[in-house]
Amino acid sequence: MIMVVLENVNKIYNEGTPRAFEALKSIDLEVSEGECVVLSGVSGSGKSTLLSLIAALDKPSRGKIAVNGELISKLPDLHASAYRAKTIGVIFQHFNLLESLSVEENVIVPLINSGFDMRTIKALADKSMELAAISHKASQEVKALSGGEKQRCAIARALIHEPKLILCDEPTANLDRANSLKFIEILQSLHDMGKTIIVATHDPLFEGLPFVSKVVHMEDGRIVKNER
Ligand code: ADP
Ligand code: ADP
Repeated sequence: MIMVVLENVNKIYNEGTPRAFEALKSIDLEVSEGECVVLSGVSGSGKSTLLSLIAALDKPSRGKIAVNGELISKLPDLHASAYRAKTIGVIFQHFNLLESLSVEENVIVPLINSGFDMRTIKALADKSMELAAISHKASQEVKALSGGEKQRCAIARALIHEPKLILCDEPTANLDRANSLKFIEILQSLHDMGKTIIVATHDPLFEGLPFVSKVVHMEDGRIVKNER
């Protein structure tokens, strides 16, 4: 099954003003279910913009985007957040955690108004903290964590609703090598579970990973190479 399709997608920031800027130009991309795709390219080449369109955090100026069979390129905002809650987990380079809450409290934040009972929430939290290798710090305040642990807390939060598609934006940019390698191990286990993963990165650590099925190279808002 195809998980993500982009057809002739353009993104123009500040369209119709003198500051108009074409950040994405005629993007065609297909990602199958269970694939792990690396989006590479220098800073400013359009990687974050592409991820934000797939997450429906922003809308394309032209073109079509479908994710998990749902056309998302024109979703109204309310439907966009429901789509994210159902389908997408996003891991940013900035963790956006609540520093004075515990790891577990941060991890369950996305489910607070979900209508799930506390036992279900607790079971989901245990499962995603386990996956993100942060269970041993569940009751610790976030402000006392190392950078790598904070990221694993953010990963657990991104996984709690069991998303099919995981988007990562420069996930290792603020990590040292040991934590970056640990991140790659987590990515491998998500891949082994059948998750579809897209990672925007210019970290050479991601080159040649056996579970990466293709590297999509971006330059100046275009896909210039799409290699298996
Ligand atoms: P990264 O390269 O780490 O993904 P960002 O996506 O945050 O970084 O930003 C990439 C570039 O986009 C930066 O040069 C930043 O200044 C620019 N940028 C981000 N948001 C805006 C904005 N709202 N208006 C203008 N430029 C922006
Ligand atoms: P990358 O993630 O590869 O660093 P981005 O997608 O962040 O690239 O940025 C692509 C281009 O779009 C950059 O030139 C950036 O300055 C511009 N850009 C990004 N966000 C905005 C924004 N909100 N408003 C205007 N320009 C932006």
